Amino acid sequence: MKAEIIAVGSELLLGQTANTNAQFLSQQLADIGVDVYYHTVVGDNPKRLTHAIEVAKQRSNLIIFTGGLGPTKDDLTKETIANVLNTSLVLDEDAWRSICDYFSKTNRPMSPNNRKQALVLEGCHVLKNEHGMAPGMALTVDQITYMLLPGPPKEMQPMFIKYGRPFLLQKLQVREKIVSLVLRFFYIGESQLETEIEDLIDKQTNPTIAPLASDGEVTLRLTAKHEREEEAKRLIKEMEQNILERVGPYFYGYNDETLFGKLLATLKEQNKTLAVAESLTGGLFLEEMTALPSASTAIAGGVVCYTNEIKENVLHVPKEILQTEGAVSERCAQLMAENVRKLCGSDIGISFTGVAGPNELEGKPVGTVWIGIATEQGTKTFALTLSGGRRAIRMRTAKYGCYYLLQ
Ligand code: ATP
Ligand code: MG
Repeated sequence: MKAEIIAVGSELLLGQTANTNAQFLSQQLADIGVDVYYHTVVGDNPKRLTHAIEVAKQRSNLIIFTGGLGPTKDDLTKETIANVLNTSLVLDEDAWRSICDYFSKTNRPMSPNNRKQALVLEGCHVLKNEHGMAPGMALTVDQITYMLLPGPPKEMQPMFIKYGRPFLLQKLQVREKIVSLVLRFFYIGESQLETEIEDLIDKQTNPTIAPLASDGEVTLRLTAKHEREEEAKRLIKEMEQNILERVGPYFYGYNDETLFGKLLATLKEQNKTLAVAESLTGGLFLEEMTALPSASTAIAGGVVCYTNEIKENVLHVPKEILQTEGAVSERCAQLMAENVRKLCGSDIGISFTGVAGPNELEGKPVGTVWIGIATEQGTKTFALTLSGGRRAIRMRTAKYGCYYLLQ
C-alpha cells in the first residue's frame, strides 16, 4: 500500500498556513502501517490539481486529499476529482439535511452555494462531518482509493479518526494489530543516541524504530505489527529492553510523559516540597509545574528574581557577590537555591540563573547557565553551556532542572 497526501490550498503555497494536515495524516497512517511515499501541495487551481492527481495515480494506490470541500468558488477538489475519474457529483441526502438543520438552528440564511457542500462523488462512501458542514468521501476506482477530507484541522482530524481510519482498516484489510510505544530520553543528543543503538536501527524490521529530537529531548517510537496483539506487545517489550540496556540512564518516560510530570510524581512519592528561584527562566519552570493537576501538593512556590535588586532584597544574595562574581555565577545560584528554600520553608530549593541572549551578560557568553539545588544535606550546583535561541535556552534550562532533581 503506497499512500500519497495531496493538500489543496493556495494559502499553503503562499506560506500563510503550515501543512499540518499532512503531518497529522502521515502520523495516523504510520500508526496503521500504511507507508506514505509522497506529500504534494497544490493551489486552488483545477488544471494543476488535475495534473497532481494524474501523477499520483501513477505511483500511489491510496490518495488522500485535504481542503477545497467548502462552498466557495475556489473550493474545487471534488469537482476536479469527479472530472478526472469521469464520474458525477450527486446530492447526499443526509449531508443536505444536516446542513439545513445547521442553518435553521443557528438562524442564519442559506445561500445557493451551500447546496454545493452536500454534493458527493457518485457511489462513494460518505464520511460524516460532525464539526462542520462539508462531508468527506472515500471511493475506490481501478484499485486506487481516493479519500477526500475537509481543510480545517478541527473538522479533518475527528473525521479521519472516527470514519476515515476505520474505513481504511476495513478496506485495506489490515488484519495486523499495530502496537506502538514512545521511549523518551533526556541528557543525550540525537546523534549519540543513534550511535549507541546504530546496529538495532540498521537491522530494524519489526518493530521499527523512529528517532525524533525536539526541545532538547530525543524520543524513539517503536512500532510493531502482528496478527496477535500480544505478540506485537512482546516484540516491543523485547526491543525496549535491548535499547534500555544501552541507553537506560538517559531514559525518563513513555509516550506523553514529560520531565515536569515525572518530577511532580517523584516529589509526591517522596513526600517532598519544592521552592524555586527563577532568574533566567522568569517563571517558566513554575508555569510548567503548576500547569499539572495537584501541583500544590509538592510545589511550595518561588521567586522570580529577574533583576539583581530582587536577588539582593528578596533572596538576600549579598551585593558584593553580585558585583564581584555576578548574577550568573555558581555562588549566586547556590545562594538563590538555599535562600528560596528557607523563604518558602520547603524541603528542596532550586535556582536558575544564566544568559538567554541574544547578548552576552557580565562578559559571559550566551548559553552560560548555573543551576543550584539546596536540600537539608547541602547544596549542589551544576554548570551548563547551552546552544540555541532564547526560547530554547530557557526551556532546556527548566528541563535540566527537572533532570538534576530526578537524579
Ligand atoms: P471550508 O469549508 O472551511 O472552506 P475546505 O475543505 O474548503 O473548508 P479550505 O478552504 O481548503 O478547506 O481550507 C480551510 C482552512 O483550513 C484554511 O484556511 C486553513 O486554515 C485550513 N487548512 C486547509 N488546508 C490545511 C492543511 N493542509 N493544513 C492545515 N490547515 C489547513
Ligand atoms: Mg474552503
